[in-house]
Amino acid sequence: MQDFWFRLSVPIVLGTLFALLLWGVFSATIAQLFMLLALLVVMARHAWQLYKLLQWLHDARIETIPEAGGIWGEVFSRLYKMVKRHNRTKQDMVAELQHIEQATAALPEGVAILNEVNRIEWCNPLAQQYFDLDSKRDFMQDITYLVRQPEFIAYLHESNFNEPLVMRPTRHDDMVLSIKLIPYGENKRLMISRDITQLERIEAMRRDFVANVSHELRTPLTVVNGYVETLQDMPDLSQDNARRALQLMAGQTKRMENLVADLLTLSHLENDRSPLLEEVVDMDVLLNEIYHEGKLLSGKSHPLRLELLSNAKLLGNREELRSAFGNLLSNAIRYTPEGGAILLRWAERDGQPVFAVQDSGIGISPQHIPRLTERFYRVDRSRSRETGGTGLGLAIVKHIAIRHQAKLEILSEEGKGSTFALVFPDKRAHVDEMLAP
Ligand code: ADP
Repeated sequence: MQDFWFRLSVPIVLGTLFALLLWGVFSATIAQLFMLLALLVVMARHAWQLYKLLQWLHDARIETIPEAGGIWGEVFSRLYKMVKRHNRTKQDMVAELQHIEQATAALPEGVAILNEVNRIEWCNPLAQQYFDLDSKRDFMQDITYLVRQPEFIAYLHESNFNEPLVMRPTRHDDMVLSIKLIPYGENKRLMISRDITQLERIEAMRRDFVANVSHELRTPLTVVNGYVETLQDMPDLSQDNARRALQLMAGQTKRMENLVADLLTLSHLENDRSPLLEEVVDMDVLLNEIYHEGKLLSGKSHPLRLELLSNAKLLGNREELRSAFGNLLSNAIRYTPEGGAILLRWAERDGQPVFAVQDSGIGISPQHIPRLTERFYRVDRSRSRETGGTGLGLAIVKHIAIRHQAKLEILSEEGKGSTFALVFPDKRAHVDEMLAP
């Protein structure tokens, strides 16, 4: 501050000293005139710098800051530093904001900030997508004008947001959203929306699955229960009738046993995250075993043939492959009327190993084909049950195929027959060095 007064007074003090000198040498009038002129020059200089400062303040940019000497030079240099500091803080804040914006954009949830009267102050891209918002166009718009579903409006007006709102947005009704409001600051609210379509689907599948399993078990249990009650109520039942009842009960318990076995297999396949235990499976041996099991199952009622057109072995899990091939063959036998031909084939297609079961059975109409591998999906429930089906065979085959990176191909024509083929990736074909051409 002292420096300031010193620098400000230097020209005046010097002028005064010079005026005194003029007074001594010439006269008082000349000294006064000189003093007046000197003061005018000093004032004009300050006025000019002030004018430059005002001009600059109209559009205060660092590049256009005026230059000057003396005390004004000091003023402009300090201003320059201040503006520079301000710019740097602004840049830091912009970078910080961009950073926050990028982070919220990367959030797997929609986020919107609502003020005390439900106007949108800000929203991230996912919130824009879920509710068809536009962050610029809809800035400060009342969200209840844009999302008009009554359950949403009712939720906004609630005071307790512990439970999220689950709803389908009008314009994306294939989507299920979970919406939660979190109050913060002064009457502001953070609206978090999450796409729970997949979770809901899994939950629905789980509910269906439990309902299906209960249903599948209830029928045989009711039958067994009925016979047990009959046997209890009629102790003098003839031996023949008692034997028949026991036979039927055994059939039903077998059905339940098959179902539980298939459920356990499926659950094991679905939950097993460990890498597949692989070995080189000799298909000649494995398919011959399956072929003989098939003959026993069919009881000579179908001409069964095995064609081994490839000498490649298969890299995979022997037990899982046996289960998949066995399921396909058992289906072919169960859905082919007596006398119908069944062919088991091991071949190669464009270097890819293919296992196929071809039957001349009842076939499947096209609308059912895409759904056959769903758990408990059957074209004809009673036929499936009569032949001991659980409705899980093809679901098991599909899982085994996935674990072996194989594709399940189904070709079928109603009344003519079907071909179920497992096409394995070429890397799973294993040809013995000695046999290779
Ligand atoms: P299921 O125990 O009922 O046979 P799967 O999952 O093995 O259950 O098969 C599902 C459904 O696919 C069967 O109920 C049947 O309708 C149909 N299906 C499977 N294989 C054949 C086939 N070879 N010929 C005709 N229909 C078949």
